[in-house]
Amino acid sequence: MYRIADLVKELDTIECTTDPVKIRVKSRDHYAVSPLLKQMLAGKTADVVASPKTKDELLQLVRAAVKFGIPITERGGGTANYGQSVPLRGGILLDMSGYSGIVSLRPGMVRAKAGTIMATIDEEARKIGWELRFYPTTKKLATIAGHVAGGQGGPGSVVYGTLRDRGNVAAAQVVTMEAEPRILELRGRDAQLIHHTYGATGIITEIEMPLAPAWDWIEAIVAFPEFMQAVRFGVGLANAAGIIKKLASIQEWPTPQLIRQFAPLVPEGHSIISTMIARESWEEFQQFVAEFGGTIASSSPEGAGPYGAPITEFAFGHALFQIQKHQPNRAALEGFFRGTDLIALIERVHQQVKSFGPMRMELIRIGGEIVGTGSPYFLYESPEQMAELVRLMQTAGAGVSNSHTSNVRAVGKKEVTERDLAFKRDVDPYGLLNPGRFEADSRADERFTLELPTDSWDRRLA
Ligand SMILES: Cc1cc2nc3c(=O)[nH]c(=O)nc-3n(C[C@H](O)[C@H](O)[C@H](O)COP(=O)(O)OP(=O)(O)OC[C@H]3O[C@@H](n4cnc5c(N)ncnc54)[C@H](O)[C@@H]3O)c2cc1C
Repeated sequence: MYRIADLVKELDTIECTTDPVKIRVKSRDHYAVSPLLKQMLAGKTADVVASPKTKDELLQLVRAAVKFGIPITERGGGTANYGQSVPLRGGILLDMSGYSGIVSLRPGMVRAKAGTIMATIDEEARKIGWELRFYPTTKKLATIAGHVAGGQGGPGSVVYGTLRDRGNVAAAQVVTMEAEPRILELRGRDAQLIHHTYGATGIITEIEMPLAPAWDWIEAIVAFPEFMQAVRFGVGLANAAGIIKKLASIQEWPTPQLIRQFAPLVPEGHSIISTMIARESWEEFQQFVAEFGGTIASSSPEGAGPYGAPITEFAFGHALFQIQKHQPNRAALEGFFRGTDLIALIERVHQQVKSFGPMRMELIRIGGEIVGTGSPYFLYESPEQMAELVRLMQTAGAGVSNSHTSNVRAVGKKEVTERDLAFKRDVDPYGLLNPGRFEADSRADERFTLELPTDSWDRRLA
């Protein structure tokens, strides 16, 4: 369909391959966490993988792609869970993992090339007493550009909010998809133009991000006999401004049994909160736990817990990932619990859907407000069963975004304004960036046969 041989000739010394095995590997991300995405994205691959290492190589690649009208789908670490780094319409898989390195690092601020791994940035920042404000639980593999283009938040978001909150992305440098590509510097709020657009609004080359002061973290699992006790404690902890924390992840019993590494630590029948507390706040935290009737089932220095991995790898989307190792047919939704009486809302939704399976919920900040995100882990049967769960959660007052689809509007976590559309037309006039994922004309977005009755940011999630 595309003139790949002519393109490859034009790429000259830029690393590229048409080896079908390498193409297949790089054309996948972590969409297999969703049973629906497994069906929707099966067999979709690129025609060639290109791996530029310098800006000149990247610009040369863009010129050649535009000349032959071949689409580009960017990829960083390939850990995305909506399948958004899978090329829907073939073409070039642009592997940005080799385009990496820290550009500048000073107290409070880092600037890094697109393919720099989040864990590397965190390690380097800690050497000067700072750390990432928040990161995805996949930080060992995820890149900074992949996170901004495809992610939301993670551990740390309980304090600092998400990528869409003001002040969390200082700047982004992007390359436009034109015959003579431009290099744009988007500062402050303008950087939102490339957030959660899955690479469809420019190829990110650098990201500048503010940092947080680094703390000596203690990981802890706190057990409660009742799920709602864990919820009340979690909301209290999230709101306790003086207790320095990084994580508040609630898992209802029997999840501590489904996560094999937690099973020996957690008393039978207990729901848990996984958390990270600064050593300076530990004493007060212990008192707080006791006041709420909890028991500290495990505590250890960061990364040294008896469960064999950082505690963050048992929270957010990673918890489902752990459970699926033993129960591959467990699935989840992305519910948003937001309201003036958050505890009552969570209790109402829980009552409505608890028959589906144990509830998971992270407490994070969005727009300054503490919000719960999660759903029950259910044993997947059919799209109809999933749609029924969405409706029940909505009826009880939660918003639900669609984590089982693969384009910007359908996932629903991006507020799309006229400015976003004008920017899209400006930077990608031929519609060659990750085509089908976010088109200026919504009718040109890829249609997926399996859709859920979910909410979008413009409607219920904001
Ligand atoms: C188990 C599990 C747990 C997760 N936990 C979290 C979490 O806690 N928080 C969270 O936010 N996400 C989470 N995710 C999703 C994902 O891991 C993160 O968002 C991660 O930051 C993505 O980075 P990446 O480099 O792997 O991106 P990729 O998967 O490579 O790409 C993500 C998107 O960004 C685009 N992209 C990549 N590089 C560029 C570039 N240079 N320019 C333009 N577009 C680009 C891709 O086309 C794609 O659309 C999780 C996923 C899984 C499977």
